[in-house]
Amino acid sequence: MMNISGLLKSLIKGKSKNEKENQFDDTWHAASSTKLTGAQLRFLSDHNLPLSCTFDATGLRTAEYKSRMKELDKTVAYGVTPCKKYNHRLRTSAGHCIQCNPASIAFITRYYKEGYVYIMSSRDAKAIKVGFSLDTKNRVQQLNTKGYGGASDWKLIYEAKAPEAGRIEHEVHSRLSKYKKDLQHIEWNKLVTCQETFSCSSEFAVAQIKDILKSRGG
Ligand SMILES: [Zn+2]
Repeated sequence: MMNISGLLKSLIKGKSKNEKENQFDDTWHAASSTKLTGAQLRFLSDHNLPLSCTFDATGLRTAEYKSRMKELDKTVAYGVTPCKKYNHRLRTSAGHCIQCNPASIAFITRYYKEGYVYIMSSRDAKAIKVGFSLDTKNRVQQLNTKGYGGASDWKLIYEAKAPEAGRIEHEVHSRLSKYKKDLQHIEWNKLVTCQETFSCSSEFAVAQIKDILKSRGG
């Protein structure tokens, strides 16, 4: 005769190490990322919402993605639970269905219209960060308080006010992609890998921003 705890033990024992690892792997992949569907990409494009405004919220609670999206200036969450009415899967950072709330689209579009593309630099991290913000002073403080990328000596090096600053940030990121530097810090008890940190010089990054602004007639 076997009691429940004995049964559990024998079940756990019965699994090979590999099986357990694979199982963990599958769960991790399922919980760690979601891809935007063709229909969602069309919706974003039809409403002039840049991809750089999106945030993969897979496996995160609303309070958690709300906080992380605020820090990153992201406005559209995907990988979320479907809305009750039509099963849409795009939400605002506050958790509202974007497709059922047209007013939220106008808000997001306005939000991405004007802001600052900035460059920050950290000696400790030996890296620069290129981002978009409506309030760069506040952003520097947030980053240092958080210990972003494992450093607390981030300094603002450059900022440019620009229409569609969110899109410009996205373009700079793709230009600098080969210099991407994976820095990490702990946030909400999870290891977070920074998406906006690079190993090139701040001068090079500034030149890229100026070039993009020039090509846009700014
Ligand atoms: Zn909906």
